[in-house]
Amino acid sequence: MSKKQLNPKNQKANAATRPPVVVVLGHIDHGKTSLLDSIRKTAVAAKEAGGITQKIGAYQITESSGRRITFIDTPGHEAFSKMRQRGAGVADLAVLVVAANDGVKPQTVEAIAHAKAAGVPLVVAINKVDLASPQDVAKVKGQLAKEDVIVEDQGGKIPAVAVSATTGAGVPELLEIIGLSADMLELKAETGGEPEAVVIESLLSSQQGPLATLIVKKGNFKIGDQIFAGEASGKIKALMNDLGQRISEAGPGMPVQVLGFSDVPPVGALVTRLSAPTSGVVSPKAVTNQPVNPAAEPTTSLNVVLRADTQGSLEAVEVPLANLEAGGKGINFLLKSIGPISDSDVRLAAAAKGVILGFNVPTGSSARKLADDLGVGVRSFPIIYELLEAAEKLLSGAQVLAEEKKAPEAEVLATFTLHSGDIVAGVKVLNGKFKYRDRIKVFREGSEEEVHQGKVRGLKVGKDEVQEVKTGQEAGVLVKPDFEFKKGDHIVVS
Ligand code: GDP
Repeated sequence: MSKKQLNPKNQKANAATRPPVVVVLGHIDHGKTSLLDSIRKTAVAAKEAGGITQKIGAYQITESSGRRITFIDTPGHEAFSKMRQRGAGVADLAVLVVAANDGVKPQTVEAIAHAKAAGVPLVVAINKVDLASPQDVAKVKGQLAKEDVIVEDQGGKIPAVAVSATTGAGVPELLEIIGLSADMLELKAETGGEPEAVVIESLLSSQQGPLATLIVKKGNFKIGDQIFAGEASGKIKALMNDLGQRISEAGPGMPVQVLGFSDVPPVGALVTRLSAPTSGVVSPKAVTNQPVNPAAEPTTSLNVVLRADTQGSLEAVEVPLANLEAGGKGINFLLKSIGPISDSDVRLAAAAKGVILGFNVPTGSSARKLADDLGVGVRSFPIIYELLEAAEKLLSGAQVLAEEKKAPEAEVLATFTLHSGDIVAGVKVLNGKFKYRDRIKVFREGSEEEVHQGKVRGLKVGKDEVQEVKTGQEAGVLVKPDFEFKKGDHIVVS
């Protein structure tokens, strides 16, 4: 037999199936981290050799029927979107964790929006079933259906598994479902050719220098390869897998820690190898900035993240916006939610080339900066009619978001209790003017709605009572004797 016959699949040998890369999303405290730990423990216990696991940002397990699955260790859609922001879609599947005893929450809705915008299919894990009744599980399914996540036993296509990260119940079933869902995606990866990977975690180790964990998308990375990721470059000196073992080569779907970058590469950056023919011809930047998996971008709609201050006002703006049509385009909501405009909203909009419209909500200062950096249009309006008018102009192709006149906004740097017992906020004015007796709203990080509405009843710079303070100035603000400001609160003039 000739060598060729020995390998009849020679032509196809470079299109092997690869393990799925899975992220875990969901509301805070619903058990994402616990579930990732539980999966890892189940897998490690099942491994006879019992390697020592290393936290490198992702790990790979083998479920009972032999399929390998790679999990990204950083849960939550913030990290997920950060990776996508650079165009690198690393995840194939998302596990949406919903606590059975708490149900669908705002971040559950956000997570659904992020997965949807990325075109990543969901598997639902209804967690904490040890604390809940079957009725609770059914209730969660009903709530999910309202968010257009229709699970299999309700006539939909999305698999849902009841699990407990604490007891481990349902975890093997969840892994099997993930494996089956991945089979349906028919994930292929070329094992030959130019390799590509995505940075999912990076750090500067005091002993080893820059370390980066990559998930290989295609091809193989080997020790000695000359690599690039964003502005960082280097030569692979060592590769380590999630069991802490030194390896000489890493293939598709595999998480691997790389030693050898000269600088810490950014999370989400695409890693490529400088191949002999491109050497010296293609600049590293040109090679690295190509998106791996850009999300589909419908041109007939404008992608919008919509934020409003209350559930009532959200509903009031959502309906006319949904009905709006101009220039042959309509609005596609990436997310509809209440609360201030956040970094995560900006990343979601950036990844889908969309804009952010707010109604009566502030834009956090870091979200504003991120939006400027990423070129995302953000604008919040005090009047519905103005918001609708701007949306209509946007649909017709006008750039109206750059001109926003920001509402005066200040951030609470510290709080002080006076002898009288009144609580004063030490603030820095981020933009605009704050005047004595201005009407204001206070927003708290992580809180979905404003925590206070009122008036500026005292304004001081140092010991002096003043009438107004401007951008960049620090001042003491008193709103209401018993209102407890917290560090990080945002005060917005309304
Ligand atoms: P995350 O914020 O989504 O990552 O949530 P964590 O994994 O940190 O879990 C939040 C809390 O819920 C912790 O106190 C966990 O111990 C607890 N928890 C997580 N999963 C379960 C579960 O299945 N059952 C019970 N009883 N508690 C759980």
